[in-house]
Amino acid sequence: MITSTICEIAWFAGLVAWYLIRYPFERRSNKVSVTRSLFGWRESGLLALAFVGLWVVPFIYALTGFPSSLDHQLIPAVAVLGVTILCGALLLFFRSHADLGRNWSISLQIRDEHRLVTTGVYRAIRHPMYSSFFLLAIAQLMLLPNWFAGAAGLIGVGLLYAFRVRQEERMMMERFGAAYQDYMTHAGRLIPRFDFLRITRSNCVF
Ligand code: SAH
Repeated sequence: MITSTICEIAWFAGLVAWYLIRYPFERRSNKVSVTRSLFGWRESGLLALAFVGLWVVPFIYALTGFPSSLDHQLIPAVAVLGVTILCGALLLFFRSHADLGRNWSISLQIRDEHRLVTTGVYRAIRHPMYSSFFLLAIAQLMLLPNWFAGAAGLIGVGLLYAFRVRQEERMMMERFGAAYQDYMTHAGRLIPRFDFLRITRSNCVF
């Protein structure tokens, strides 16, 4: 039987896996020096909001049941779908770290010899890591049977994304110019675009 305790355990296991995936990549990329950084109060605040929404609010809810007035019924089929989405989020989170490699930063930064990555998952999506955050937040909504604790991740991630993505793309455009502009026309922001699979007259061999 699927209980809310099982769902909470699944959620926190997912968060621990999330951290374990990130840790080795974070250690590796931190060894590469930063040549340009937009890290400041605004970025710290946005990262803190996402952290509170994904970790702190669910943790308080799991420990105290607060705010119990916003509890709702757990639907087993929704919880199972939540676990499936959680696994998908972790897989995408891992792949985007593996593909971005040493170019990754927790904030908006350009690293020494920064390379524009347009391969792997980046071929179809410009921000797969943010897509994985949204999937994670959707899983949270499905796994925690409380409107506030469930939606907190979506609010935190939504704010981080809304206030960061344009600034990030502007920074990438300043650094990579036409190459990034061209990349924007081929890859979707959060949802994959499979333009590269289309056979055009110029690359058709027949
Ligand atoms: N927005 C991306 C990456 C998040 S990590 C995603 O969601 O997958 C943030 C850092 O990644 C930024 O500081 C930026 O320098 C770097 N970055 C973003 N897109 C990149 C790309 N296509 N190639 C190389 N670096 C990229």
